[in-house]
Amino acid sequence: MSSALTTSTATGTEAVEPAIVFDRVGVTYGNRRKSTVALADFNLRVAAGETVALLGPSGSGKSTALKALAGFVRPTSGTVRLAGRDVTNLSPAKRGIGVVVQSYALFPHMRVHDNVAFGLKAHHVPRNEIGTRVTEALEMVGMGSYAKRLPRELSGGQQQRVAIARALAIRPGVLLLDEPLAALDAQLRQSMLGELQQLRKALPDTAMLYVTHDQAEALALADRIAVMRDARLVDIDTAHNLWQQPATDFTASFLGGANLLPSTVKHVSGTAALVTVGEHTLRAEAPRPGVGRPDWAPDADAMLCVRPHTVRIVPLTERDALRGTVVTAVWKGAATRLHLSVPGIPVEFTADVPGHTELSAGDNVGVKFPDPAGVLIPPVIGNASAAADSEVRA
Ligand code: ADP
Ligand code: MG
Repeated sequence: MSSALTTSTATGTEAVEPAIVFDRVGVTYGNRRKSTVALADFNLRVAAGETVALLGPSGSGKSTALKALAGFVRPTSGTVRLAGRDVTNLSPAKRGIGVVVQSYALFPHMRVHDNVAFGLKAHHVPRNEIGTRVTEALEMVGMGSYAKRLPRELSGGQQQRVAIARALAIRPGVLLLDEPLAALDAQLRQSMLGELQQLRKALPDTAMLYVTHDQAEALALADRIAVMRDARLVDIDTAHNLWQQPATDFTASFLGGANLLPSTVKHVSGTAALVTVGEHTLRAEAPRPGVGRPDWAPDADAMLCVRPHTVRIVPLTERDALRGTVVTAVWKGAATRLHLSVPGIPVEFTADVPGHTELSAGDNVGVKFPDPAGVLIPPVIGNASAAADSEVRA
């Protein structure tokens, strides 16, 4: 693989490497008798100023990818590069990366100021600069007036702000965050998410890799989302594209809990398709063929991805309404989640309707899919390494 790849920027095309490159990185833990492949053929490029979220279920290899970049685990194969420099075998401290983890990892006996200054000393920042740099970093996270406190005198959210300040103090070109909000309660998580968005704006040149299993965090923060499953990157695109046109059934269900209705393609014209789902004919969006995406031929099997919030409950008498039965109804505050069965549709599916409904199991309701009902997805999981290859070439 050539190391001088070309990236286009707003000002023109330059021969510079992105801030972060994972090039065919593999990580295997353990020994010959018992080993775990935690990362396989992992390829990812993050540009300066870009935020990429690594999104996937627990155990999918997200933290391992981040640790391989930070230098906390040594890849079994492949290379990691920072702005074109191969750092695969460099010690963590020499990589100049800011790292924030879920557990804050502050030194309990050190005051906030000293916690933040610690990394600066390790990076040999001149002593007369340290005070200013600490203040600057603490102010970026709204903790300027807490410098003299001990970690135990702070709330969880404040401790995480200090951990972020400590990572920022070294003015890293690359910031890695591993589930930084996971230990916080729901309300605090929401407000910290807003603060992280502000922080991104304040650091327009920093490349960020944000590990999370929470799709809401990924959607709120990332320019692009890399979806991981079983040690592999299965999908990568802008948040918007992944949501609108997920390329795999895994991404469709992991990002937004989509309904996947087995369907058969009847007719395609441009990006508009007519499909049958069981005994029903529905209009669907057919994304243009691409990596992992087939040419939608007539009679091809497909999955119709229907977002739960787009399914409507209407009076049984409404024209064109399907007749459905409520299987379960669970009120979730802002919405009620209904599981529905409709004769002629081979699987049960989910609808999220606003607010509280009086509906309960066994009720008959009118059901309407939007028009088009959803977007088509290949019926089996696409070739994961094909998706990863496209990332190298992109
Ligand atoms: P995630 O962050 O997505 O939850 P991880 O990268 O932590 O996933 O883990 C990926 C896989 O590697 C999991 O199967 C996990 O059990 C395994 N693993 C992680 N760290 C180690 C380790 N130090 N030794 C052995 N196996 C590990
Ligand atoms: Mg993890």
